Amino acid sequence: MRKAVVSLIFIFQSFVFAGDVPQNVIFMIIDGCGFNHIAAADYYEYGKAGQQVYEKFPVKLAVSTYPAGGSYDPEKARNDFDYVKDGCTDSAAAATALATGVKTKNGSLGVGVNKNRLENVIEKCERLGMATGVVTSVPFSHATPAGFVAHQDSRGSYLQIADEMITQGDLEVIFGGGNPYYDNNGKKIDEGNFKYISSELWQKIAAGSLIQTRQDFLNLAEGRTPRRVIGIAQVFETLQVNRSGESNIPFDVPLNKNVPTLAEMSRAALNVLDDEADGFFVMIEGGAVDWASHKNNSSRMIEEMVDFENAVKAVVKWVETKSSWEKTLVIITADHETGYLTVAASGKKMPAMEWHSSGHTNSLVGFLAKGAGAKSFVKCAKNNAPVRGRYMDNTDIPKTIFQFLETKKSQIK
Ligand SMILES: [Zn+2]
Repeated sequence: MRKAVVSLIFIFQSFVFAGDVPQNVIFMIIDGCGFNHIAAADYYEYGKAGQQVYEKFPVKLAVSTYPAGGSYDPEKARNDFDYVKDGCTDSAAAATALATGVKTKNGSLGVGVNKNRLENVIEKCERLGMATGVVTSVPFSHATPAGFVAHQDSRGSYLQIADEMITQGDLEVIFGGGNPYYDNNGKKIDEGNFKYISSELWQKIAAGSLIQTRQDFLNLAEGRTPRRVIGIAQVFETLQVNRSGESNIPFDVPLNKNVPTLAEMSRAALNVLDDEADGFFVMIEGGAVDWASHKNNSSRMIEEMVDFENAVKAVVKWVETKSSWEKTLVIITADHETGYLTVAASGKKMPAMEWHSSGHTNSLVGFLAKGAGAKSFVKCAKNNAPVRGRYMDNTDIPKTIFQFLETKKSQIK
């Protein structure tokens, strides 16, 4: 009898909220987004704070983002304005932490500080028979998606990264920018610019499952799909941020019309991935908030935040019509803050924004979650910050997902 009680307790301890394990994980990252980027989008779109669809998610925490060897001290962050300007992560180290649960040095993707190969969440999911994908609004071989798939000591090795992602991995979905035959305005160019993918690999995929036009992405949103799709939108780098034109008013400069939105890409990705009975994992990145923030470009940053929120709305709609919150977990977080942004409501549509850096900061970022297993993250947030409240480390996010996968594995056995 006593033995039975003991083993029962053991079972409960070893399972993370047994029975609350997601079949599908939708991991959404806003590159470069701090709490004040979200506030700015709130003021612009809704006139008050706390209104983004993901801000209504039930689990709300903060996350520390520093790279290997770093730290975060909330008291110092409160008392010394310049404290967060030092010791920041880049997107490569942050993506590695978010994908593998191990911190590494800036610039490294999927390898540790000693260049040791780290297993990432996508590889773990593939071993369980799940479908996997990465979706981004910046080049597909850029740091954040690459950190979930590739193993390279240098984030700048785009050609090797692209090769690893497309030919060595088994991802069902790879969507992003990085098209060699288009410029940043979505105009066709004669001579290919093979910065993000090699000419040889491009020729190979162009003869296979590659899609490029906006209509191609729209066509994938409903109905039957191929098992595997590589989608490289008709733009060189980001979907919209690097298009020509200048204005202080968001959406004043006409958007590139020939490329999908992040929401359209997300709908297509989910429809491809949901064919797998064992569930799926997808990383969806609003990648260009970071690019706009490096330039302290407030109007373009707002455009990207709106694009990201629309993607979250599309994801939520998919969960509520094609899946359920009992089956699917949706996580929203950022890899780091960019631009050291402060914001105040201005009484107008555009809030007053001040940028205090053109680089990254070591500030805490947000974490929001809803659905199966969402509550499991709360216990990770053991630290407390005076302004942002309870926070965990970025490595706690994949570690919690790995516990779900372990539970899933034991259920399969
Ligand atoms: Zn950046």
